[in-house]
Amino acid sequence: MTKSGVINALHVLLLPHGPIDWVARLTIWCSITSVLFLSVKSVLGLDVELRIDLAVMFLTSAPLFLCAMIFARHWDKSQKDLAKIADTDALTGLMNRRALFEAIEASDEGALLIIDIDHFKLVNDRYGHAVGDAVLVAIADHLQRNLRSGDLLGRIGGEEFGVYLFGADSMQVDLLGERICKGFVLYNDDVPSPIKITMSIGTAYSAMSPDITELYRRADGALYQAKHSGRARLNFWQPPNASRA
Ligand code: GH3
Ligand code: MG
Ligand code: MG
Repeated sequence: MTKSGVINALHVLLLPHGPIDWVARLTIWCSITSVLFLSVKSVLGLDVELRIDLAVMFLTSAPLFLCAMIFARHWDKSQKDLAKIADTDALTGLMNRRALFEAIEASDEGALLIIDIDHFKLVNDRYGHAVGDAVLVAIADHLQRNLRSGDLLGRIGGEEFGVYLFGADSMQVDLLGERICKGFVLYNDDVPSPIKITMSIGTAYSAMSPDITELYRRADGALYQAKHSGRARLNFWQPPNASRA
């Protein structure tokens, strides 16, 4: 058995959410410890009464089972914690790019919105990186508050966020985009005057894109156009010949 095979087998035996119930789990565990115990006894050439055998077996197997169970639970929790850290953006607590894209790939059809803060570099330059970070956290909150439950939200990187709206039509995307683009005014104790934040958005539909890489590329192209036509707006990706028609 491979290392992960052994670990999986221990998992099933020791964790309460596995497919085997507690009685079966205990029985298997007792059988394992009995075989171990009898092997040790025969190696050492011991010959004692059956009831002493049983008592020793019980006294050794119960604490062993308990220790193994505690270890397995601890191990399971640390694996889950590690998986969560690997999927999460440390600053905002949102999904990171990889986790967001994986979630989109596993989802039904929808619209991807790539959201980029307008002139964010100025915020950093004027007020410092810490205030810039506070703006990013406030934007995560702003986006979260504007989404429907079940929509996906992640930080793609830097000052770029991604939203995936399930089954949304262009009117719904427009409505939500409008609310997001307008942005908000942030009051921060370290800054003398309120900071006005706006965002630009590029959108593409998964139904028209062969994969997540192309979906992102299209939404990003639409974002580029939104920036070039004045910022603080949403722009839909169009097939290359659509604008000429
Ligand atoms: P545009 O409207 O064209 O998007 O202009 P912009 O200034 O927002 O765009 P640009 O790409 O020039 O600047 C993005 C800035 O975001 C540059 C980088 O220093 C900053 N940035 C990226 N990640 C972080 C971060 O985690 N924290 C802070 N404070 N700033 C970040
Ligand atoms: Mg950017
Ligand atoms: Mg920007």
